[in-house]
Amino acid sequence: MVGKYHNGNQLRVDFQVHLHRSNYGLDDVLAHMEQIELGAAGILSYPFENEINFPLSKAERYELVRGDRVIKATNKENGRRLYLFLGKELESSDGWHLLAIGTKIKYDTTAKRPLEAYIEEGLANVEILILDHPYADPERGFADIPKKKERQLRRIAEKYGKEIAFEWNGYSKPFVRKWFASRILRAACSDVNVKLENLAEEYDLRVIPTSDTHARNKRLLNGIGVSFVTFPVSTLDFSDKTTLNYSIKAAIKSGFYGTDKHYVSFLHLFEAWWPNIRSKIKEKIVKH
Ligand SMILES: [Zn+2]
Repeated sequence: MVGKYHNGNQLRVDFQVHLHRSNYGLDDVLAHMEQIELGAAGILSYPFENEINFPLSKAERYELVRGDRVIKATNKENGRRLYLFLGKELESSDGWHLLAIGTKIKYDTTAKRPLEAYIEEGLANVEILILDHPYADPERGFADIPKKKERQLRRIAEKYGKEIAFEWNGYSKPFVRKWFASRILRAACSDVNVKLENLAEEYDLRVIPTSDTHARNKRLLNGIGVSFVTFPVSTLDFSDKTTLNYSIKAAIKSGFYGTDKHYVSFLHLFEAWWPNIRSKIKEKIVKH
């Protein structure tokens, strides 16, 4: 059907994509999505920007209609429709990352708040909430979380396990984490996705795989959609942007979706993370 874009009867969604301004256009992002039959992506500003960090006016091959939670893009030639969810990767005061997808909250950029405060607010505002890379600690260079944080994670799983989802992360390649742990960080970096799967089984959690692509340049757009979820189109309501958020939330809650879990390639990961790796190496040299 012209106007809807999906792969058969499935809508594929990669909820975590970080774009970088000015290195390519939204046309390039949407063309890549079409090529891999990804019908929707979460475009995240980080950590506190309220606006999508991207010049929308530059898209030429797609007609864009911006709602307050989602941008609808229609290919002018073939009529295919794609969706870009507006979102944020929030950084809480207690050291967690939370994806707030389809958000319209104006977050205070000067004061971080605890994770539970963001969860409560997001739930009240029909956001799709995903606790991303829960076992990789952003406060410790993405090494494993300490025991105290694991206890907190279990409390969150118990309290909000039916309301929010938990992310399987496409950047957390086990052998790269191992190398990073032994050579650079000197802290344990285990397979965080396996740990998440175990936790999910224990608490009956909803796991959402995302690519977590950081596309600093056009080539790195190839990470988009390596991991994704699929929703049966019949369960979604596209009539307006709020109903799309509602229906996706409901599908996640009921567990009525498929998952496709893959890691980005080693070359992608190395190129995307090189600035971070370099700064860690420099830190290490300075310390010694
Ligand atoms: Zn993160």
